[in-house]
Amino acid sequence: MSQERTTVDGKTFICPKCKGNVLEEIMTDVVQSSSIDCIDKPHDVEYVDTSTDGGTLDRIQCMRCGFIVVEAYESPDVYEELLKMAKEWK
Ligand SMILES: [Zn+2]
Repeated sequence: MSQERTTVDGKTFICPKCKGNVLEEIMTDVVQSSSIDCIDKPHDVEYVDTSTDGGTLDRIQCMRCGFIVVEAYESPDVYEELLKMAKEWK
């Protein structure tokens, strides 16, 4: 399952660096829990449900190249910032 694009306020994100169209949210200090489906080899573990808890939003970046679009320490509300930025998008 590969996502093709992220839209913000109806506009498609276009990375200024690589022209990628998907934004990803990076969080730190997250507690992740997963139910294990099967383990076939030491590093080949299949999971069914994964959920995360807690964590701090660090940044929003381009999923393809890692170009940082909004950093949380610069903007108190990254989503508001993204919506503001989207006004400049085509
Ligand atoms: Zn990019």
